Amino acid sequence: MEDQNNIPHNQVFSPFNLAELFTFWNRFPDSVLFAGGTDLLRGQTGRIFSLPKNLISLDKVEELKKYSRTERHLELGAALCLSDIIRLGKIVPEALVTIINAIGNPRIRNLATIGGAIMSTHRYSDLHAVLIALDATYELKSAASSRWISASKFVTAGADLLQEEKALISRIRIPLTSWNYIFHKKIGDLHRDDPEGGTFLFLCNVMKNTITEIHLIFVGSVIVRFKDVETNLVGQNIPLGNKNMETILANCSALLEEKLSNNQFLQKSLYRCIETALTF
Ligand SMILES: Cc1cc2nc3c(=O)[nH]c(=O)nc-3n(C[C@H](O)[C@H](O)[C@H](O)COP(=O)(O)OP(=O)(O)OC[C@H]3O[C@@H](n4cnc5c(N)ncnc54)[C@H](O)[C@@H]3O)c2cc1C
Repeated sequence: MEDQNNIPHNQVFSPFNLAELFTFWNRFPDSVLFAGGTDLLRGQTGRIFSLPKNLISLDKVEELKKYSRTERHLELGAALCLSDIIRLGKIVPEALVTIINAIGNPRIRNLATIGGAIMSTHRYSDLHAVLIALDATYELKSAASSRWISASKFVTAGADLLQEEKALISRIRIPLTSWNYIFHKKIGDLHRDDPEGGTFLFLCNVMKNTITEIHLIFVGSVIVRFKDVETNLVGQNIPLGNKNMETILANCSALLEEKLSNNQFLQKSLYRCIETALTF
């Protein structure tokens, strides 16, 4: 039996591997994972930080810092910091590079990890839109098991699943598709409680002036996928003719009205984003 008087009140565990990490987590189930700390410490300007009682640092967990690449996928350890991902060079999909470079500033990107960004509690992470659009999947690892879940499922249910399963995100797997056109825009102030905030992303492939693949997505207080619009656009030639453009924008407008009936600001912002993106 544990001697309760011998347990210090604040402790930071620094495991070297996942087995050690789960041993600590099992012993102190209230422990909070600490990756780059930029989200956990956000807004703390005092001399003494306020932190959870027990922390598990991911900094030395080797498995979470690895990356690998196959012909079809790039796999990133969840504790890789955003700058290190950029430094991997050409193997990183351009859309991901574009979005990462728009996150915070270099100092933030040197600390913030991809896993922490996905789990950020203060704001709608810009990464959700690109990881969903790229059809990424995340490995959820617990002491007993591991499984993969799509980024689109994770964005709505992920945090609860991790809590239920006492799991963490260990790897992010991204299919290596390249895109000719990338357009993205941050809307609103992106705080979690801002109903008008989020990220719009447009990815498109064009071959000999014909659209071959297209993804449009908004992730914020709501998630809007424009699947019908995407299907209608595949096979069309660019630049889009005036009549064509009018029909597409009318479809988008109807979808936005349906999905965001009480959010005029977001409706208008997204309409403008789509209009701009479709001018290529
Ligand atoms: C000044 C500033 C500007 C920013 N600008 C942007 C921006 O423009 N766009 C944007 O999208 N974001 C922005 N952010 C948010 C930033 O992306 C996040 O703070 C950062 O990515 C969090 O990563 P971290 O490693 O520091 O996470 P931490 O603070 O260490 O952790 C965040 C949360 O994730 C949990 N966690 C961490 N790793 C894992 C894991 N592997 N599995 C499960 N849970 C985990 C932690 O327990 C914690 O709850 C900004 C933040 C700051 C401070």
